[in-house]
Amino acid sequence: MTVRSYFLPRSLPEALSLLDAHSPELLVMAGGTVAMPLINDGISLPDAVMGLRLAGLDTLERDVDTLRIGATATLTQLLNQDAVPMLREAARNTAGWSIRNMGTVGGNLFTPPPGGDVAVALLALDATVTLASTRGERVLPMVDFQTGFMTNALAPDELLVEIAVPIRSEPTAYLKFGRKHANTPAVVTVAVRLEWAGERVAVARIALGAVGPHPIRARLAEESLIGTGLGAGAIAAAAAAAVQECEPFTDGIATEWYRRKMVGLFVGRALEQLAAGAAGEGR
Ligand SMILES: Cc1cc2nc3c(=O)[nH]c(=O)nc-3n(C[C@H](O)[C@H](O)[C@H](O)COP(=O)(O)OP(=O)(O)OC[C@H]3O[C@@H](n4cnc5c(N)ncnc54)[C@H](O)[C@@H]3O)c2cc1C
Repeated sequence: MTVRSYFLPRSLPEALSLLDAHSPELLVMAGGTVAMPLINDGISLPDAVMGLRLAGLDTLERDVDTLRIGATATLTQLLNQDAVPMLREAARNTAGWSIRNMGTVGGNLFTPPPGGDVAVALLALDATVTLASTRGERVLPMVDFQTGFMTNALAPDELLVEIAVPIRSEPTAYLKFGRKHANTPAVVTVAVRLEWAGERVAVARIALGAVGPHPIRARLAEESLIGTGLGAGAIAAAAAAAVQECEPFTDGIATEWYRRKMVGLFVGRALEQLAAGAAGEGR
């Protein structure tokens, strides 16, 4: 069956009314880089599609301490901002130019693993997401948005409209390891953010991609770092904890065994990068 109706709302209220009237049969499409191939291959057979590209959700706004990313801002737009360096790095590591020009930041939160390279960074950055429907808006921490393999907290009549990212000054580390250097699916993606209290780690965020049903936090690894000076022993312990708690899978890119090995290696490397930076600052 071919798509019978295509809606192209010119505003968010119009988009929400259409969704209210036609969900759950209406397929929401942002950049279409994931959704369109599924339709073309006959895997997804929606009766109606709603494109979001004219709904006015493609802005990037920076205030004093927050970067507000409209859900349909493209990955290329993310690459061109300098408020949050980790997000630039994540966008640079996601797909190639053509996909980045069309694919959206919001869409990346719906991309099944091993995709979701930007979502991994958003998790480490303690981002929040705004979900809207004709009933109103609600804000969720990013960590509560993705609930399982291709499942999330979005109700059938809701759209993801904005992602808010705190702007902070502390250094972060983002590493993606794939079979090629660029434009490659992840074997593992690691995003780390640390806050310091003097010479000790006070807050740790370690997010992992491609080793779970969706981007996940390595909470045991995070906890193991609190109060340490990020020495070699603490880094080894955190890497070992991440290896234990990740949930890798086997696909055409890597085996579960190999992904688990790479989690230890790349969590260790990301923390070493931050430790070297801290030593450079005299911590
Ligand atoms: C060749 C290729 C390479 C790729 N490489 C990578 C990679 O290296 N790393 C990576 O992470 N991803 C990769 N991807 C996946 C993809 O391009 C990105 O994840 C992109 O961000 C998806 O965004 P989109 O706007 O195109 O999503 P769409 O295809 O438009 O949407 C996908 C689904 O998400 C939902 N959705 C999207 N936006 C909203 C919204 N605002 N509200 C509610 N629901 C919404 C809809 O249900 C929709 O059907 C690749 C894809 C391709 C085709």
